[in-house]
Amino acid sequence: MIMPFYDFQCLVCGKHARLQFSYSEYGKVQAVCPHCQSQEMKRRISRVAVAKSEEARLGNMMDADLSGLDENDPQSLGRFMRKMGQEMGEDMGDEFNEVVGRLEKGESPESIEQSMPDLAGGVDLPSDV
Ligand SMILES: [Zn+2]
Repeated sequence: MIMPFYDFQCLVCGKHARLQFSYSEYGKVQAVCPHCQSQEMKRRISRVAVAKSEEARLGNMMDADLSGLDENDPQSLGRFMRKMGQEMGEDMGDEFNEVVGRLEKGESPESIEQSMPDLAGGVDLPSDV
């Protein structure tokens, strides 16, 4: 089973910890600081190298470059989505490409959604399958 690493920062002692959860465990299992046993652990967004697998790739993708993402900046969002599409390694379809293109031109997501009523959540991040 693939066990991706997740980076945390302890809010009590301030130390960093790299904990390993399976993809399905993550979010359900309480992270515990290995230094002081505190459960006040804050997830750190970082690029984490894990083995190649569909799960791991998804995990990686969610970690990748979220720090540079400004959800209020359409161009930032567009760049992020384009990168996400590339990491998926598959054709995301014309709608996706159109949305990304329009975001990159600075159009607001709301305006794009209104002009594409069929979108219905199509621009959401991929969720757990
Ligand atoms: Zn601690």
